[in-house]
Amino acid sequence: MEFTANMAHRYLMHGLMWYFHSDHHKKEAGFFEKNDIFFLIFAIPAMILTMGGFFLENYYSLAVGLGITAYGFAYFWVHEVYIHRRLKLFDNVDNFYFQALNRAHKDHHSQLEKEDAQNFGMLWVPLKYFKNANN
Ligand SMILES: [Zn+2]
Ligand SMILES: [Zn+2]
Repeated sequence: MEFTANMAHRYLMHGLMWYFHSDHHKKEAGFFEKNDIFFLIFAIPAMILTMGGFFLENYYSLAVGLGITAYGFAYFWVHEVYIHRRLKLFDNVDNFYFQALNRAHKDHHSQLEKEDAQNFGMLWVPLKYFKNANN
């Protein structure tokens, strides 16, 4: 899922669907972002695959549906709540891995334009962000 999400972010959100993703890179007023539409966009196939897989006893489809759902939860808690502080939770999370993850994503946001962004993944953090941890 991390690989799929990385590709979707790189080629869809920073490609065809930039219209919805751009306001996540250029902070605008208000609690909701156009970028939130991606929760719906990924929830629909996830539900269809999960329910279809369950009722038709297709375990491949069920596994993919549950995988997308699980990643959706991880994305919500890690990206929306922990990195962007959209809920006042986890303020004291302060470990090696999450600090590096946070820095990697902030680097992604340092580019305001569609092209030449980096770090499209979320949970897989490039090594260089671990090297200068704790400063
Ligand atoms: Zn982006
Ligand atoms: Zn972000």
